[in-house]
Amino acid sequence: MAFIGWIVRILAVLILVRMVLRLFSGGGTRRATARSTRAPATREGGRLVRDPHCGTYVPVTKALRSGNGDSAVYFCSDACRTAWATRKAG
Ligand SMILES: [Zn+2]
Repeated sequence: MAFIGWIVRILAVLILVRMVLRLFSGGGTRRATARSTRAPATREGGRLVRDPHCGTYVPVTKALRSGNGDSAVYFCSDACRTAWATRKAG
């Protein structure tokens, strides 16, 4: 029964690999520090604003603004801003 011999050998290798991996991963202390460095993902460009024309969400730093203060509207592109202004006027 060479087949069973192979299974036993494969299982032994798997157990050995798992032991080695556990050694390399270290104790719980190293994992705790790795977890603490993973801060909540802050989106690139900060706050997201919605383009009222096409509905796309754009980072406020990359968006094109129209108007000021509370009436400010943000667009993903100049084409959207123009189209929205045209639609609003018409
Ligand atoms: Zn748009």
